[in-house]
Amino acid sequence: MEANSQRQAALSRLTTETPLDLLVVGGGIVGAGVARDAAMRGLRVGLIDQQDFAAGTSSRSSRLLHGGLRYLEQGHVGLVREASVEKKVIHQIAPHLAEPLGFIFPCYRGEGRPLWQLRIGVKLYDLLCGGRNFAPSRGFTAAETRAMLPALRAARLAGSVRYYDALTNDARLVLDTLRSAERHGAALLNYARLVETSRKAGEWSCVVVDSASGGRFTVRARAVVNATGPWADRLQPSAVRLRLSKGIHLVIDRARLPVPSAVVITEGKRLLFVLPWDERVILGTTDTDYTGAPEDVAVEPADVAYVLRAVNDFFPSVRLAEDDIVSSWAGLRPLIANPDGTPSDISREHEIKSPEPGWWDIAGGKLTTYRLMSEQTVDAIMRQLGVSAADCRTAAEPLLLAEEITPFSGIEPAPFTREAVLHYVTREWALHLGDVMLRRSGWHYARRYSPETVAQVAAWMACPLGWTSKETEAEIAAYTARECAGTGARESTANSG
Ligand SMILES: Cc1cc2nc3c(=O)[nH]c(=O)nc-3n(C[C@H](O)[C@H](O)[C@H](O)COP(=O)(O)OP(=O)(O)OC[C@H]3O[C@@H](n4cnc5c(N)ncnc54)[C@H](O)[C@@H]3O)c2cc1C
Repeated sequence: MEANSQRQAALSRLTTETPLDLLVVGGGIVGAGVARDAAMRGLRVGLIDQQDFAAGTSSRSSRLLHGGLRYLEQGHVGLVREASVEKKVIHQIAPHLAEPLGFIFPCYRGEGRPLWQLRIGVKLYDLLCGGRNFAPSRGFTAAETRAMLPALRAARLAGSVRYYDALTNDARLVLDTLRSAERHGAALLNYARLVETSRKAGEWSCVVVDSASGGRFTVRARAVVNATGPWADRLQPSAVRLRLSKGIHLVIDRARLPVPSAVVITEGKRLLFVLPWDERVILGTTDTDYTGAPEDVAVEPADVAYVLRAVNDFFPSVRLAEDDIVSSWAGLRPLIANPDGTPSDISREHEIKSPEPGWWDIAGGKLTTYRLMSEQTVDAIMRQLGVSAADCRTAAEPLLLAEEITPFSGIEPAPFTREAVLHYVTREWALHLGDVMLRRSGWHYARRYSPETVAQVAAWMACPLGWTSKETEAEIAAYTARECAGTGARESTANSG
């Protein structure tokens, strides 16, 4: 399939096969999950996103499928159980996107939680998966902990526990969910923004701007789902009220901090993670109120200083500095508004609302719980549409067919090849350089910025997308200005990827 034919087919179906049963606005993990579930149940589904699929929060997370150990401490047992069951479900339906990972949680005398409390906490955590966790948790003495993590601060170390969650690739989870939705009949269009809605005779009329062509078109649908994450309170007639919280991550070479598994470190009451990712380590995150435009979220020097200070406090001999940063990203948690406490205190529960007939808001939640959120949303829509309830199959049916799993899609960065780029452009809706570099391949995060790498990818994209040399240069300039200006994307001739 040519790059443009995939886009043209979706565009034509969105405008001619109407009214759709359902138009999903937002191609993050929640919108993708809703579109897949609804299409699998036989509804006629369309999905649009104003930017690239997964370009919002769903490519900017900590990449964990987790119950959330810290929510146990806050007494949110139901939430932890729900997410713990879901992490196992995703592992079952998409094993290529759920790599079980041990987390070593060191404990110090006179600091934070006592070791006995942690030992009970992780045993309870093991039990909340609706069966068995990926592996049983266990405790370690101080000497055993030091043997696993020689660079860890030794003074007053009491010991540690190890529990299990899973590492995923957040953007890839979105893309693979969309590939499945498309196979089940959904029409998917990125770079298409909902700008206006109205309702007449039981039908929604949605005006959409196609930013690729500059054109406008109208999609008619019996129901609309607002799955726009941090933007969810900006659409009409949304009833969502959000409190946005910013979180950033830094990527460094694993040789600088050679951890054998993930490590949990603490900063006051907060937990931060050191996450091994192939030859890299991901460090994060922060949790601070954010009031700007969601599309402007960025890594600030204060965020970097906070994360480096926390890591250096636990690994003092490593002395991480800004120069060690290979890449970074910033994202926004779309938390359901609650003015009390710090963002870390706010529950990660989700909310499904229908402020007007046929309009559905779905907000909050986590990457890990997207499938359950989607199931509950589609159940409610089917009831409202009066469609006889087909059973949800998303917990049982594999996300992809065996032949759809390629070497270009997984948790690790993809092989750097022309074939991979052609696949992203012709099969996975990539329209711009950043779509390939950031969300399809992960090369942006795994490699120090190098003009040669970027020019090579642009040259591979130019042919299937029909870019002139001027357009190719403009793509490179836009990508470099937007994505490589901030922390960790410094120019380097020695490409370390
Ligand atoms: C720092 C951080 C760490 C996290 N870590 C984890 C973790 O480890 N595990 C976990 O389970 N969860 C984690 N989360 C939470 C998780 O990432 C989010 O809950 C989830 O990604 C939200 O997905 P979404 O689909 O609701 O929103 P998004 O991914 O933001 O998608 C919304 C989409 O709507 C589109 N849109 C907006 N307005 C319009 C419009 N008018 N027309 C068309 N499209 C529009 C946007 O372009 C965007 O792509 C983390 C979040 C953050 C910020």
